[in-house]
Amino acid sequence: MKYYHVNQRDEIRRIYLQKGPFQPQNYKFPQRAFGGKQRRFNISWFDDNIYWLEYSIKENVTFCLCCYLFKSDIPNQGGSDHFVKSGFKAWNRKLGLDDHKARTPHIIVVQKCQILMNQRQSITTAFEKQTILQEKEYRILLNASIDCVRFLWRQGLAFRGHDKTDDSDNKCNFLEFLQWLAYRCDVVDRVVLKNAPKKKYSIEMQ
Ligand SMILES: [Zn+2]
Repeated sequence: MKYYHVNQRDEIRRIYLQKGPFQPQNYKFPQRAFGGKQRRFNISWFDDNIYWLEYSIKENVTFCLCCYLFKSDIPNQGGSDHFVKSGFKAWNRKLGLDDHKARTPHIIVVQKCQILMNQRQSITTAFEKQTILQEKEYRILLNASIDCVRFLWRQGLAFRGHDKTDDSDNKCNFLEFLQWLAYRCDVVDRVVLKNAPKKKYSIEMQ
């Protein structure tokens, strides 16, 4: 999140929250061995944690969407970092889930998420003076960027490279992936990187 311009972070968080955490419903969760017993993720855990608990099919672990979105604001989360970094996977230990939920940093970021979603200044009102087309382009740009960030985060890849100039073969991973996405998708290509509407929409790196 810190790689986005400060003015864009809340907009990006809002889009993440509008999508909600990934919670597959018709999926056979794979088993893991715990204490000699095979256990799998308990889908009923989604019911009480519908707002923040996210499951990764690729890694068979869970994450906290809220803590992830605000981790740059609240860096020290003690033992609950599993829900942000490596993922929580102790399927035999619901207490770990409840423990995370009761921690102050988590409670604070959930409140921040709720405030963000309740703010009257939604994406629509913030850009009400702009055309519908511009707003649509903005959403495509943000969604493409989010997909890139999520991919790099899940893969544990660094964002930065050595040379961000247009003709460089070694731009940062984020820009390389965004460029790859644009190359394969005309809709994305029209609104990102060099084609991004100037000033208001371009994704800036710190
Ligand atoms: Zn959390």
